[in-house]
Amino acid sequence: MTTRHTDVAVIGGGIVGLAHALAAARRGERVTLFERDERAVGASVRNFGLLWPIGQPADLYPRALRSREIWLDLLKRSGAWYAESGSLHLVRHADEQDVLEEFLATTPAAVENGARMLTPAEVAERSDVARPDGLRGAMWSPTEINVDPREAVPAVAEVLAADFGVEIVYGAAVREVDLPVVATTAGAWRAERAIVCSGNEFQALYPDVFAAAGIRRCKLQMMRTGAQPPGWALGPSLCAGLTLLHYKAFAHCTSLEPLRRRFAAELPEHLAHGIHVLVSQTADGAVTIGDSHDYGLTHDPFEHEAVNRAILDYFSTFAALPRPAIAERWHGVYPSLPDGAADLVAHPAPGVTVVNGLGGAGMTLSFGLAEDLLAHA
Ligand SMILES: Cc1cc2nc3c(=O)[nH]c(=O)nc-3n(C[C@H](O)[C@H](O)[C@H](O)COP(=O)(O)OP(=O)(O)OC[C@H]3O[C@@H](n4cnc5c(N)ncnc54)[C@H](O)[C@@H]3O)c2cc1C
Repeated sequence: MTTRHTDVAVIGGGIVGLAHALAAARRGERVTLFERDERAVGASVRNFGLLWPIGQPADLYPRALRSREIWLDLLKRSGAWYAESGSLHLVRHADEQDVLEEFLATTPAAVENGARMLTPAEVAERSDVARPDGLRGAMWSPTEINVDPREAVPAVAEVLAADFGVEIVYGAAVREVDLPVVATTAGAWRAERAIVCSGNEFQALYPDVFAAAGIRRCKLQMMRTGAQPPGWALGPSLCAGLTLLHYKAFAHCTSLEPLRRRFAAELPEHLAHGIHVLVSQTADGAVTIGDSHDYGLTHDPFEHEAVNRAILDYFSTFAALPRPAIAERWHGVYPSLPDGAADLVAHPAPGVTVVNGLGGAGMTLSFGLAEDLLAHA
């Protein structure tokens, strides 16, 4: 068989692989991306489709905003559905208000980008879905974008091929990287460099890198309604108090502790399953609701209805939909690093870079991370 040539071999067709393929192609390199499956079906198409700068810690916020710019360019090129929806952190308890006010007082970059508190009347102007009863207000942030990952991820791949000349080879599992040879189930390529973005499949290529990093897998349960009435739109993506415990953006707030104690007393099952609730929209007007977080190396393949019920119970405390019936349930899995590390970047052999471990922020951060990494390659 003839050996084909490329400058950069990217392994993995999820968002991390796509982001690195784009960054390399933008540098003028010939890029070939290998995806084991016939299309990407991993974490990148199982998520909310939320590009969520507001949840990132201060040091990663600029990277999230840069990713947002790159996303917007790709979305416009592709014609895929998206909404520059912004987000509302809904407030129903005084301790949630305390955390959000402390966050705004201590996070100037978010404020400079338009984050601010809203009154209940202002929330009602922006969202038909947020429940008005018991609402004390919300933090509005304009920077969040809602895409439909099932449509947006393949659309980005098409733009990479059409506009940036990236060769994408689906159905090609990379069995070994021994540069310059990249051995795949579709034959061998010669490459100058390789970028390994294998997501959950971290026990196949360079398993020692991942074992040394203490990487685990996080399993998340998700649900989706059927289409809402014609013409309906979610508006801002929604979340509420439990989300303040989840995102690192709020981790420095001293007012978080009383809130954590209240949730531990009121919602111990939610905390045990790592539940916080985000609400996003799909291209066809359905609503995605999730999620839970269960950490370990190996997970059972089953979805637990008690966890789904707990997610929906919490959802119903702050939001109401015209058509709430659930049409789909699934779970996703992403690699997760210990001690809250934001990503794993390693160089296990000359010319080889491993990029993984973006956890729950891969859609938000990948494009900026890839640009930063390749700028220094
Ligand atoms: C339920 C859920 C909700 C989430 N919500 C959000 C959100 O709203 N916003 C956000 O920013 N992030 C979110 N995330 C996180 C985000 O989805 C992930 O960080 C991101 O998708 C990881 O991308 P990836 O490319 O590393 O992995 P994947 O999407 O899993 O892609 C890895 C790809 O590599 C391929 N592969 C592996 N090994 C090989 C090989 N040897 N040869 C060829 N191909 C190979 C696999 O087939 C796979 O397609 C969520 C994740 C989940 C699971």
